[in-house]
Amino acid sequence: MSDSIFEDALNRVRQYGESAEVSGDVIESLMHPHSMLRATLPVRMDDGATRYFKGYRCRYNKTLGPTKGGIRFHPDVSLEEVQALALWMTIKCAVVGLPYGGGKGGVIVDPKELSPMELERLSRAYVRAMADFIGPHVDIPAPDVYTNARIMGWMMDEYEAIKRIKAPGVITGKPVRLGGSLGRDDATGRGAYLCVVELSKKRKLDPSKTTVAVQGFGNGGYHVARLLQDAGYKIVAISDSKGAIYSSVGFDVASIHEEKQRTRRVRAVYCHQSICELIEHDAISNDELLELDVDILIPAALEGVITERNAANIKARFIIEVANGPILSEADPILQEKGIEVVPDVLANAGGVTVSYFEWVQNLQGFSWTLDEVHTRLTAIMTNAFNDIWDLAEERGLTLRSAAYAGAIRRIGEALEAHGTRDYFSS
Ligand code: NAD
Repeated sequence: MSDSIFEDALNRVRQYGESAEVSGDVIESLMHPHSMLRATLPVRMDDGATRYFKGYRCRYNKTLGPTKGGIRFHPDVSLEEVQALALWMTIKCAVVGLPYGGGKGGVIVDPKELSPMELERLSRAYVRAMADFIGPHVDIPAPDVYTNARIMGWMMDEYEAIKRIKAPGVITGKPVRLGGSLGRDDATGRGAYLCVVELSKKRKLDPSKTTVAVQGFGNGGYHVARLLQDAGYKIVAISDSKGAIYSSVGFDVASIHEEKQRTRRVRAVYCHQSICELIEHDAISNDELLELDVDILIPAALEGVITERNAANIKARFIIEVANGPILSEADPILQEKGIEVVPDVLANAGGVTVSYFEWVQNLQGFSWTLDEVHTRLTAIMTNAFNDIWDLAEERGLTLRSAAYAGAIRRIGEALEAHGTRDYFSS
């Protein structure tokens, strides 16, 4: 196993960079984060005491544009994790052809322990620390695990108060009334859903006979499950941080979501109006969910859940990585050996950053697009990206992950080569 999640991310770039056939300078440039800000965030708690939180922001690579990436509030956030996530954002933006580099941020905190007012003060403290490091043309944050539209709104407000300007383009994933884009809420799930639709065409999957297990029932997991169920796929397992539920008959995703909103738990229920009834199911662990005999497995929680320890036990035919980095590189060859096809995170969850890009474009230009416009543009970008990667993989005998990395690294490489690399200057 690699020493760290960041080392694992670097290994993938080294490994797949070879298929990109770019100058060694390009791979070398991707080994080094551009800049990193680490700050202490003092927050007045409701009982009057001050607590000090650790916050990070990494601007990893800005070759293709301003850096872009979410802010995560989670107890396990670390410098290593933020750097890995920022590197993945660099690759992801290049995979779907957005004019962005990659960035990421995080705070070490369990937000479930904070009151709403403490959470607001923490969000504003983060921006006070980062105000000179982010900006609409420099680095544009967005939501990630345990951050949401309201938090993005507080953060924009704090940035505007500090800079004494209106700058909605400083952050994306905001509430629509504060300059957010229609369609941002379900964009990550919709992007993943569009990948499943394309994959189903290629592999001739009949939705009504295709079973799906989803790990994590937050922004990414809920929406992909909902859209797949609407399209006729059978959602047989769902989980959150507290545990998982399984039913071979399949679940009604909307009912489980409704119950989760009310009780903060994923429970096997069927709701009719406001009445929810418990339905027959098995309570299983998150580890068991990953090893279910289903057609499609969708890890949509945290990174590093499929490793060399459990890869051999995975029975799904396809894995759609809605979470960032759910499969460690050590597990890739084991899954490949078993013939499991993986739609990698840098493609499968790129719908979120794509609609974030739409939001930023609308903010900079003062436009608001209709939901139809957003969906049409998102569908075009995701479908084209999926098919480009599929074709490259077929043509060169690559996995989808290595084709996605190769295409992205080639794009970044072409931009670097336009300035001149070793080959140009030494010739
Ligand atoms: P979220 O905070 O909305 O939801 C996270 C979900 O994961 C929650 O249901 C939580 O209960 C569950 N969870 C947490 N720990 C778990 C565990 N150990 N086992 C099972 N479930 C667990 O977060 P999100 O925005 O949906 O993000 C999920 C993943 O998707 C992350 O890897 C994130 O980086 C990635 N992602 C999100 C977006 C986005 O736009 N939200 C975009 C791209 C990638």
